[in-house]
Amino acid sequence: MKIDILTIFPDFFRGPLDYGIVRKAREAGLAAIEVHDLRAFAHDRHRTVDDRPFGGGEGMVLKPEPIFECIEGLDVQSRAERLGPGAKESVVLLSAQGRRFDQRVANELAELQRIVLICGRYEGVDERVGQHMADRELSIGDYVLSGGELGAAVILDTVIRLIPGAVGNEASTRQESFTLTTAVEVEGADSTCGSGGLLDYPHYTRPADFRGLQVPEVLVSGDHEEIRRWRRRTALEKTLRNRPDLLDRATLGNDDKELLAQITGKEN
Ligand code: SAH
Repeated sequence: MKIDILTIFPDFFRGPLDYGIVRKAREAGLAAIEVHDLRAFAHDRHRTVDDRPFGGGEGMVLKPEPIFECIEGLDVQSRAERLGPGAKESVVLLSAQGRRFDQRVANELAELQRIVLICGRYEGVDERVGQHMADRELSIGDYVLSGGELGAAVILDTVIRLIPGAVGNEASTRQESFTLTTAVEVEGADSTCGSGGLLDYPHYTRPADFRGLQVPEVLVSGDHEEIRRWRRRTALEKTLRNRPDLLDRATLGNDDKELLAQITGKEN
């Protein structure tokens, strides 16, 4: 996969691209990431990339010309192709007004061959970029960042770890929080369970006794079926407590429904 990032702060990405899975994926040639400095596409002496908003108001707005010119030089699919059924590429505008980025969108992007991420700054980006150049606007959450760079880093990290081969143990990406696979679809130890859209179950490692805090006994029992049931129940408990909204979309079996009824103390 090829990822292009458009930003006025290219150095910002020194950290996020250089560690862990993202770094390994780059080194293994699974992801090629290029950071483009928008100032290089400004033609005036001062390399101006922003200007005052039409209609008045606070702050500055990123100009459309450097962004259009940069992307036109990247040889991406046309916007119509990117919006069509055979889309292989996507040009994403990071925006607090965008559709919410989540694991489902990450899976969608991971299928593509190329993603271009446009990072806004100041009051935002001239609207014509979103309307005529980008094919989607994505927000990483309901809060306002000072720039799109952190959002771009979040998206590329999430997408890259979904590329086959990027994470050493591929089964692990299929049983994590938010991932809509059922237990049956996940290979691996039979004591694990796919999250099926729930939050992940709690994990423990050695020592079994840490300052008197014991790991749950069932995990050291060796009874795989018991462990799987415990994991499923704790995942359900945590989801109910922290993210009840996920339960509506989760794939729940009859066992899950029974467990849920037990947890909430209600009758089925
Ligand atoms: N005036 C805008 C906020 C501009 S913040 C508004 O009220 O909606 C400057 C830039 O930060 C944006 O152009 C965008 O690229 C980025 N940004 C801010 N919040 C974001 C979010 N939640 N997700 C993704 N990008 C965001």
